[in-house]
Parts: sequence; structure tokens; C-alpha cells
Amino acid sequence: MDVNQNGEQRAPMSKLENQPPQSPPVTLEKFTDPDWTAKGEKRASVSLDALETLWINTGTLCNIECVNCYIESSPTNDRLSYISASEIAAYLDEIEQQKIGTREIAFTGGEPFMNPDMIAMLEETLKRGFKALVLTNAMKPLQRKKIKSALLDLLERFGDRFTLRISLDHYTRELHDQERGEGSFDKALVGIDWLSLNHFHLNLAGRTIWNEDEEQGRKGYGDLVKSRQWPIEIDDPRQLILFPEMDAKKDVPEITTKCWDLLSIRPDSMMCASSRMVIKRRGAKTPQLVPCTLIAYEENFEMGATLKEAARADGGMFDDGAVKLCHPYCAKFCVLGGGSCSV
Ligand code: SF4
Ligand code: SF4
Repeated sequence: MDVNQNGEQRAPMSKLENQPPQSPPVTLEKFTDPDWTAKGEKRASVSLDALETLWINTGTLCNIECVNCYIESSPTNDRLSYISASEIAAYLDEIEQQKIGTREIAFTGGEPFMNPDMIAMLEETLKRGFKALVLTNAMKPLQRKKIKSALLDLLERFGDRFTLRISLDHYTRELHDQERGEGSFDKALVGIDWLSLNHFHLNLAGRTIWNEDEEQGRKGYGDLVKSRQWPIEIDDPRQLILFPEMDAKKDVPEITTKCWDLLSIRPDSMMCASSRMVIKRRGAKTPQLVPCTLIAYEENFEMGATLKEAARADGGMFDDGAVKLCHPYCAKFCVLGGGSCSV
């Protein structure tokens, strides 16, 4: 037993360091202390129940630049660089060898079809028996001849396990182009029509901004889907996912341990209860795991390079693999906004 400067016995430092702080520090700013909110309340955390979906960020470069892109993708943003097929294969190996039980590998960007290894990553994923989901804008990168031909090949071999989720911000040309740039609606329709004609499994991801409610949104998308004869069940929330407005600058309250009961929300409904995302920072030697698709840039949310390390991440933003909800997006998009990408 150690003795402190007053001659009192104390636990060895290593044990003390591992214990969570028992009282709040004086905190002036929100979302700064991992354990305590600015009001001195215990911060909520979410543990991983099962790694159902492993998300892969294929890189932040995108062929367009949308007004409300939460990850700020653009034709010049390469803060997350293209991940390679061999880097992804190592995670698939780990899932298989450790019998982690992950069923789905999901790809997001940026625009995934800009990554030169995208088809190889998809093929490897599907070949090993996983389900694959790709989030895409269905525009020029997907519409290249060699990509379309490779997609048709994958469809023929693995079609029942392969889904594309296309972002269509609004069902009208005017409002979609307001978000995504002039001409983007028509270009997306060309891509979706091609996918639909070739019988790919499709979902749509839209938004409920412009003061529309969910019912209006579903009706508007329903009319468009019907007129284009796309194979999408508009009333199925997994086939038409409507995300709420995501104003990244809006001030939000912090989430405490009491919020779950107060709001009647279950921690296991958060994306970070069932998924992790692999990212590769520009210039980094190895990819890293982060808790979810929403928190991609903050280095203090890195959980380690392997799934095993991530499961044991401790200290700072983590507590034995659980994620402390110390980011404005946790409140804004997940607990209060209902905007988890995990639907
Ligand atoms: S298409 Fe998607 S990734 Fe690209 S800028 Fe728009 S929202 Fe971001
Ligand atoms: S942003 Fe959402 S999914 Fe990500 S860590 Fe926070 S609560 Fe979890």
C-alpha cells in the first residue's frame, strides 16, 4: 500500500488511475469532459451489444459538395483517404477468426465508387458471405462503364445479399438541386433508373427538411417512385429512410444518464450499440476504428486499429469499450434528432 504526503494509506496509483472520477470537475464548456456535463451531471454512455454492422469509410472525396453534408465531403476533401481492399480484408479476417458474428459490411464516403478499390472490397465482402450495403449518390462515379459492368457481375453472383442505398435529398428537382447543385437530380435519376432496370436491391435516403413532415415526405417520394417504377416500398422505413434536418451548428443539451428514462429512448437503439466504423486519416499508416459513421474526424474518438483493441478501448471517451456521449452529434443527431444512420 502507498502512503500519501499526510502519512495516510492509499491504493497504488495504477488502481486509482483506473477508477472513474467520483465528482464533477468545474467545467465551463459543454462536450469537453468525457464523464461529466457542463452542469455537473453524469454523462451517458453506450456499450456495444454486438457488432452487427461494420461500416467502412471509403474516403471523404466526393464528386459533388452538398450544402448539408455532415462529413463535409467534396471533390477536394481528402481528410479521410481511400481505404484499400487489403486493409479491409484484415478486418474481415478478424471478424471470421474471432467469430465476432458481424453480418453486414456497409460502405460510406464521400462517394464510395470514387475509391479505386471499391469493387474489390465489395467482392471480397460478398465472397465471404457477408451482406453488403453501399451508400451512394448514384451519379457519375457509379455510372462509369467499368463500374456498371462489375456491379452487374456482383449482382449475378451475390444479388440477394447486396443493397445500394441512394441519397436523394428531395423528390423534387428544385429542392434536391438546392442541396446538391444544379443538374444533380437528373443525374441521380439516370443512375437509379439503371439500377432499377437491372433489378438491384435499392433503398432511398431522403430528408425531411423544408418544413415537411414524414407523411408529406413519404407521399412525395411515393409519387416519384411510382412514376419511375423503382422497386422500393415507400412505407417500409428501411426502404425509404427519411433523415431529419441536421443543423450541425445548432446548440443542443448534453445527454446524461437520466436522459434515457426521461426521453424513453433505449441506449441500444443508438448506432454505436451495434456498429463501428473503420476510417483512414490522410497520412496515417493504419486505419482506425471509431464509434459510428457520424464522428469521423475527432482523434480522441479513435478506439484502436483492430476490433479487439476497439472492444477494450478505455480511458478518455471510452469505458471498457463503451462510448461516452461527449460529442454534440450524439445529442443532435442520435438521442434528440433520431438521425442514426443505422436504420
Ligand atoms: S453526396 Fe453524400 S458524401 Fe457527397 S457531399 Fe453529398 S452528402 Fe456528402
Ligand atoms: S454520434 Fe450517435 S452513434 Fe455516434 S457515438 Fe454519439 S450517440 Fe453513438
